[in-house]
Amino acid sequence: MTVNLLDLDLENLAVFCDQLGEKRFRAVQLFRWIHQRGCANFADMSDLAKSLRDKLAGVAFVKGLNVVSQHISADGTIKWLFDVGAGNAIETVFIPEDDRGTLCISSQAGCAMACRFCSTGHQGFSRNLTSGEIVAQLWFAEHFLRRHLHRDERVISNVVMMGMGEPLQNYSALIPALRTMLDDHAYGLSRRRVTVSTSGVVPKILQLAQDCPVALAVSLHAPNDALRDKLVPLNLKYSLDALLGACTRYLAHAPRDFITFEYCMLDGVNDQDAHALELVQLMHSRAKAGLRCKFNLIPFNPFPASGLQRSPLQRIEKFAKILAEGGITTTVRKTRGDDIDAACGQLAGDVVDRTRVAVRIARHRATDLGAATPARPHPIPLAH
Ligand code: SAH
Ligand code: SF4
Repeated sequence: MTVNLLDLDLENLAVFCDQLGEKRFRAVQLFRWIHQRGCANFADMSDLAKSLRDKLAGVAFVKGLNVVSQHISADGTIKWLFDVGAGNAIETVFIPEDDRGTLCISSQAGCAMACRFCSTGHQGFSRNLTSGEIVAQLWFAEHFLRRHLHRDERVISNVVMMGMGEPLQNYSALIPALRTMLDDHAYGLSRRRVTVSTSGVVPKILQLAQDCPVALAVSLHAPNDALRDKLVPLNLKYSLDALLGACTRYLAHAPRDFITFEYCMLDGVNDQDAHALELVQLMHSRAKAGLRCKFNLIPFNPFPASGLQRSPLQRIEKFAKILAEGGITTTVRKTRGDDIDAACGQLAGDVVDRTRVAVRIARHRATDLGAATPARPHPIPLAH
């Protein structure tokens, strides 16, 4: 059986090379060719011995995802839709800012968590992505951007696991992918700049603290169990008390000294003064146990099936003010890429309508868009 080397972090690649009778430094070389140089073709890896290149060609390959579409927003945000087979597609979003470039990555096709306000949740769960499919989003985007911006150095400085899916429900694929993102021989991202966002899979939060501590964002959305049960059904399994306890324990290992709480602002549902005051109280009681946090208020991105509305801006500002007066550092998330549906919670692509995606995928195949390997430039220019 042949192996897609995008699936392997450096440790696993070293084991793979060892089985081929190759020393560890060969694995490092290979890893650098793939991730730092975006090379998918063993024949092009000029400083690897010809014998090794031949050996690799028989047992391994490097294969990214197929691009279905690419949309560029007026604000520079780019959204890619990738085909992951069987009529499923996932989305990846690049968000450029003055001092950083952030890539928002998907971890699953669909999601089983069924949060009330999330269009990925409404779509249901299709399957877990492999490690290679998670890494391939970064591999493709980084090398695409370098090529199109004519940059030799790194373009993507931050990764947030805030695309489609619940990353901690795909734990075994997530960990090697995170390790590759952090590896100095690959993308060399700082642990503080790689963020796992979770709806609250308590046991996995604790495991992540041991296996690969990175920045943690927790989707809170409510100040009490009664409301959170309705918005985030996972709360029925792991209560706020258990979740906040896990967050406190995570901090002992985390690269940052706070947890980010995401809070989606839903008109008339969770955005009243009383909710903000309850949050302040809750966080005060938890601060005594050592929980430090920041709040990120996300204006809800509406979609018809939700039956929900975005809180008015004034309401969001008042809510933020109450939290800030209660001593909680609070930011309101700017919505980016609105014109291309790239904002948080809109990342369902057209997957809801699977037939349409299948047709679009077929059409692109027919026009030979090709595999999204960085070596094959996408025909759509970055400037617009
Ligand atoms: N499953 C993970 C990560 C993906 S969702 C999680 O739930 O944390 C990333 C963020 O987008 C989460 O905070 C989620 O609550 C938020 N989100 C989902 N749907 C949204 C919507 N329609 N509008 C605004 N934010 C949304
Ligand atoms: Fe899944 Fe996150 Fe959406 Fe909830 S908010 S359904 S956990 S992707």
